[in-house]
Amino acid sequence: MIAEILCVGTELLMGQVLNTNAQFLSRRLSALGVSQYHQTVVGDNAQRLEDAYRLALSRADVVITSGGLGPTVDDITKRVAAKVAGKELVLNPQAEAHVRGRFQRMGRPMTENNLSQAMFTADSTLLDNPHGTAPGAIVPMGEGKVVIHLPGPPNELQPMWINHAEPWLQERSGNVLVSRYIRIFGMGESNVDELLADLEKQSNPSLSPYCSTGEVMLRATAGAATKAEAEALLMPLVEEVQKRLGDVIYAIEEDDTGSLARCAVEALKRRGWTIATADSLTGGMMASSMVEIPGASAVVKGGFVTYQTVSKTMLVDVPAELIEKYDVVSAEVAYAMAEGARKRLGTDIAISATGLAGPDGGTPEKPVGTVFVGISTAGKTEVLPLRLNGDRKRIRTLTMKHAMNAVRKAAEAVI
Ligand code: ATP
Repeated sequence: MIAEILCVGTELLMGQVLNTNAQFLSRRLSALGVSQYHQTVVGDNAQRLEDAYRLALSRADVVITSGGLGPTVDDITKRVAAKVAGKELVLNPQAEAHVRGRFQRMGRPMTENNLSQAMFTADSTLLDNPHGTAPGAIVPMGEGKVVIHLPGPPNELQPMWINHAEPWLQERSGNVLVSRYIRIFGMGESNVDELLADLEKQSNPSLSPYCSTGEVMLRATAGAATKAEAEALLMPLVEEVQKRLGDVIYAIEEDDTGSLARCAVEALKRRGWTIATADSLTGGMMASSMVEIPGASAVVKGGFVTYQTVSKTMLVDVPAELIEKYDVVSAEVAYAMAEGARKRLGTDIAISATGLAGPDGGTPEKPVGTVFVGISTAGKTEVLPLRLNGDRKRIRTLTMKHAMNAVRKAAEAVI
């Protein structure tokens, strides 16, 4: 099956809105094993949209549109698709009830043009939109091809895709795909590649690497007639990867939303520990990355952004003489920051980071990228010395990731 994404909206062409719907849909389609060879963005112009439909339908089985389902005159996505299919749009009673009900619940009067959101070709299959007014639809276009209409706002498009369109596509393709996302920290892409080259050549199950700052993620996928058969194909591959890579794997998950911070927060929860942070070059990122995770309030007690040298003394009790003697970027100061933060907030664990993010301030002994991460528990305090490469943003991000990995490992350590 070949799919093509067709995003409609002049605001996308003008750069006013980032096309996150295309990214979301293409990731979901590749995870489903559906091929895509082209993607199109077209403005709110009927002739150009018609051309785009005809071209997309000439080369794909499924054309997925985003946007232009609203009630205004420039919302032309459905009307033009109907024209291409040679059909009329008619008022769909079920969709009308949805649109009217939505206005009633919002306590707003409905103008007649809103009923355009309830107009579909008679053979359309509606897709429920609990988060917005315009339902989506699957529209037969002849020769076994379909157009799937999705609304523009991502908070409407994403659940509609996951709950309705994707199951429909999966059923139609007769192939159930299952995946595992294997997350790696502490080993570069080329090393991972070298260890797994033979596995990356196979096709079912398949193994594909993806890189982000300091991390590698592997997607292992298998397809079969049933979920159980696909799982049975997949698991030996996952086990083999685990055997070869060992403890640089920090998570194996069924979706690709994981992160080091999430694993750190979950490990802290499992251990029943609270945490404090003392950020310097990370400027609050260590605390912020954990607070992004829902439920972090159970473990993150608080933190200190001790950016200037004096704040390290004022906020987390690092003795001024210690800083004078060893320098503010030193293992000794990272150690004292972590202990100080833990004691100040009375937590089970604390993490600290001091270092040189650059671009200025490096010396031959301490070049830009010299970082010390401190980790303190009641039992012991340790310091992780790091030599990081890259620009300021990368060094700060990598520091945060090393810190989260250290938290995760400490919380998972056997007592
Ligand atoms: P509405 O009923 O809200 O008008 P719609 O289905 O007609 O929805 P559009 O009017 O095309 O959709 O877009 C509504 C909003 O959705 C846009 O202003 C934009 O914020 C967001 N949006 C549209 N297309 C995309 C896209 N491809 N990626 C991300 N956001 C988008």
